[in-house]
Amino acid sequence: MHDFHHVKGELWCEDVPIREIASAAGTPLYIYSHRTLLNHFRTFDQSFAQVPHIICFAAKANSNTAILRLFAKEGGGMDIVSGGELYRALQAGADPGRIVYSGVGKRTDEIEFALTSGILMFNVESPQELRAIDECAGRMGKKAGVALRVNPDVDPQTHPHISTGLKENKFGINIETSFSEYLRARELVNLDIKGVSCHIGSQVTKMTPFIDALERLKDLIGRLRAEGINIRYLDLGGGLGITYNRETPPPPSDYANAIMEASRELNCTLIFEPGRVIVGNAGILVTKVLYTKTNEGKNFVVVDAGMNDLIRPSLYNSFHGIQSVSANVKGEIVADIVGPICESGDYLAKERKIPAFERGDLVAVMSAGAYGFAMSSNYNSRPRVAEVLVKGAGYYTIRKREEYADIIRGEEIPDFLKS
Ligand SMILES: *Cc1c(COP(=O)(O)O)cnc(C)c1O
Repeated sequence: MHDFHHVKGELWCEDVPIREIASAAGTPLYIYSHRTLLNHFRTFDQSFAQVPHIICFAAKANSNTAILRLFAKEGGGMDIVSGGELYRALQAGADPGRIVYSGVGKRTDEIEFALTSGILMFNVESPQELRAIDECAGRMGKKAGVALRVNPDVDPQTHPHISTGLKENKFGINIETSFSEYLRARELVNLDIKGVSCHIGSQVTKMTPFIDALERLKDLIGRLRAEGINIRYLDLGGGLGITYNRETPPPPSDYANAIMEASRELNCTLIFEPGRVIVGNAGILVTKVLYTKTNEGKNFVVVDAGMNDLIRPSLYNSFHGIQSVSANVKGEIVADIVGPICESGDYLAKERKIPAFERGDLVAVMSAGAYGFAMSSNYNSRPRVAEVLVKGAGYYTIRKREEYADIIRGEEIPDFLKS
């Protein structure tokens, strides 16, 4: 499932000991396996080999240009949610004709950038956005490809913060009103209505929510076609979950088979926007133990990575496996692994049975390839960490560790404060 494995008790990525990379690149750092990234992408892509489809990698899960490049070279498209992500995708050599643009808050300049670039379509999330895109396209003398992002009101049975397909979420257009919105969109002459899209949430570990959403969309597509609206693309979003701990999500092949079965005779090109399932288990965060201590009988392992480097535990209380990099850590303790940030919420693991780490040991925080570096920040004025891509026996820095100067880049002290 991934290429982080043990050799005589020591953790390696592909054919390189993690210890070696950490001593060359320093800590904290993100390490990704090229082979795992490629396997995950190909497995997902090939699961749909029998039907016309585009795999639009969700750039927000991991937006490093080297990683986007890897998927673009495999023929992948991109799902973007901002002008910045479009810029990254283009820099990485993605085919604009395979880019879909999602998100509730697209600015006019971002819409213009996407139209200039010639993306496949906008996944439109509100009636006002539909009109804004029509206006931009008219001004630019272009036709904008659009799909309405429909909110199918299904419960993805995932963490509330990452569920997006319920009525009460901010995402998409209510499925009941979407039909009449499509009819109105047809009157907007600068739009080319290409498809229907949805995205029900993230870390979904059951098949039923996906199929329920698909059934509702099929019904809508039938009604639209009856009105003469030529729906050619069905974008089912991303959201397929991974195993962080004991979750048992359907493997991509089961997911694909169920969807292909349920979408037979629909005659649409299927679009998927997977993020986590491709990159999540293809990356780890490596951090070093700075101190160990005991407060009121509770054990703490203080490491050099904090919530600014990996915010998922603090934000979603999410679980990441903890492993020792070295074979020499003996025994086990129950402890919190905490970072250096001045916030009580700054932890990577809580009340966890972990190896009895000591000062100087290297700790691997597993399954950190998705929403890891991409969500990192400079909080507490900490330089963002390095990212390294391992391929076979070689490894490559795909993002340099930031320096102190990077942290204040762009800041200015006004003249009146200078004297
Ligand atoms: C976040 C997001 C995705 C990717 O979700 P994963 O759970 O990482 O697969 C896909 N599409 C949209 C619109 C998103 O917002």
